[in-house]
Amino acid sequence: MDEVPERSSTGPIQSYLSVQNIYKRYAELEVLKGVSLEAAQHEVVSLIGASGSGKSTLLRCINLLAIPDRGDIWIDGVRLPLSQDDGGPRRIRDQKAVRLMRARLAMVFQSFNLWSHKTIIENVMEAPIHVLNAPKAETRDKAEALLARVGIADKRNAYPAQLSGGQQQRAAIARALCMEPKILLFDEPTSALDPELVGEVLKVMRDLAAEGRTMVVVSHEMSFVREVSNKVIFLHQGGIAEQGTPAELFRRPQTEACQKFLSNILQ
Ligand code: ADP
Ligand code: MG
Repeated sequence: MDEVPERSSTGPIQSYLSVQNIYKRYAELEVLKGVSLEAAQHEVVSLIGASGSGKSTLLRCINLLAIPDRGDIWIDGVRLPLSQDDGGPRRIRDQKAVRLMRARLAMVFQSFNLWSHKTIIENVMEAPIHVLNAPKAETRDKAEALLARVGIADKRNAYPAQLSGGQQQRAAIARALCMEPKILLFDEPTSALDPELVGEVLKVMRDLAAEGRTMVVVSHEMSFVREVSNKVIFLHQGGIAEQGTPAELFRRPQTEACQKFLSNILQ
């Protein structure tokens, strides 16, 4: 298997994930205005905030699906290889290194994003084999075990359209886990689901949190956020308006924006 770049001794290695002063604009719209966050290994950090506050953009910057205009991202002591600021637009310096880092930052999307023409097990096996050159037989065993873990072993040879939304999202989580990610990123993983299917996906996520996975979660499921998070960050208009432990933030929100957001969502 390919290796990710060497660890640096100069990085902020006390944090497993360190996002430092990220800025991102789309044309006239400044979406992220200097956002920083730190997650220690085994921590769950949740991002909450109104629609349009920049939550998805922040997750996309963390795995370089979007390139931040300024700021740095470190993962397990390795800085993501972006070209240095020289006045021009920033670029990815080392495509191969980014592919490998991205593979270690599995993202689970609201819309599942499974390949419709591949079976569930093929979906789970795809990236380890093609991105990490993992051996096929071993990957199949691992994929089977992961599908059993998320409770859909019997669906291994079905196609995504034959599964419920909750089952598809659990398949997407198994696919993410098959890459043995350092960090799991979740962008509203239950928002597209019928209400009765939300619980089965949250249960899988709860188990992942309990086993010590490092996770960054965007979710509107406030009781879940409150229960699993070590830290909650409230994003407002592209900046961090407030952050703290769930107890602090939910019990005593300091800013008017956060108070308003919580009282609307918790009604
Ligand atoms: P959230 O996930 O909190 O709802 P987003 O990060 O998706 O917020 O979006 C924040 C703002 O950035 C929104 O105003 C959105 O329209 C804008 N935006 C997001 N992605 C793009 C893009 N690729 N091009 C232009 N504008 C974008
Ligand atoms: Mg979003």
